[in-house]
Amino acid sequence: MGDQFKGRVTKCLAPEYPNTPQGRGSEDNKFREEPMTEFAKNDRNRVRRGHNRARYDEDTVYGILDSHFLCHIAYEVDGQPQIIPTSYWREGNRLYWHGASKSRMIREVTSGKEACVTVTHLDGLVLARSAFHTSANYRSVICYGRPELVTDDAEFERQMKLFFDQLAPGRWDQLRPMAAQERKATALVVMEITDAVAKVRTGGPNEDEEDLDWPVWAGHVPITMQQRGPVGAAEGIKAALNHRLMPAYDWNNK
Ligand SMILES: Cc1cc2nc3c(=O)[nH]c(=O)nc-3n(C[C@H](O)[C@H](O)[C@H](O)COP(=O)(O)OP(=O)(O)OC[C@H]3O[C@@H](n4cnc5c(N)ncnc54)[C@H](O)[C@@H]3O)c2cc1C
Repeated sequence: MGDQFKGRVTKCLAPEYPNTPQGRGSEDNKFREEPMTEFAKNDRNRVRRGHNRARYDEDTVYGILDSHFLCHIAYEVDGQPQIIPTSYWREGNRLYWHGASKSRMIREVTSGKEACVTVTHLDGLVLARSAFHTSANYRSVICYGRPELVTDDAEFERQMKLFFDQLAPGRWDQLRPMAAQERKATALVVMEITDAVAKVRTGGPNEDEEDLDWPVWAGHVPITMQQRGPVGAAEGIKAALNHRLMPAYDWNNK
């Protein structure tokens, strides 16, 4: 698969995006000089509800994808919607995930049908003075595409290393090599992202003017995902833990 995909357009930063990473830091951030690439809007990815929170640019979409590990994969089997959580990683405009070769999810998503992959970060609780305006801060992405099985062994190995680099950089090379039977039991799936969209909510509550005097606390409470200290296995440890684990979640080291 090449690096040019249908459904992506290149354009200058629009004035409504002054606070995106691309817009920051420039004296005149209304329009930046370098073009940015966006996913084209169409019937399946155009956000209607809360469209001011929609982002179609690659930097936002990829940024959200790259700072998480858990996705949900949706597909349809004989008219029945299915959704399966699993871990994933990204390379270029492609998402990858792996699973048991015999799993129904792998079989179904590689049978030529469309799938939808979603990733969500919960960034905070938004406590308004009314139930109606109580909300959450979040960054979410929805990607659409047609997954395929990766059958090439060299590509399988290269992608598994990328996956492990996301978990614990350097660990793949330290592990006992995969046995032929283990390779056979593990399937790798790739999905070119044909359409994608992100939705981002930040900040405090949006309240009705007449609620502002209501005597209850209002504001927002940031929430982050944190690693805890490692707990060694009970038996047989022969080496020290020498990786920085899951750098995407390692907020303390950013
Ligand atoms: C923790 C959390 C709490 C939320 N609380 C509320 C709430 O209280 N009320 C509310 O209305 N919404 C809430 N949302 C937003 C919610 O995810 C949806 O955006 C919204 O409900 C979708 O409305 P709709 O079906 O009319 O979407 P439409 O705008 O019709 O969706 C059209 C297309 O936009 C894209 N899209 C829609 N939602 C998202 C999304 N979240 N991320 C990426 N792409 C998207 C999809 O491609 C979809 O097909 C919350 C989200 C999160 C993560």
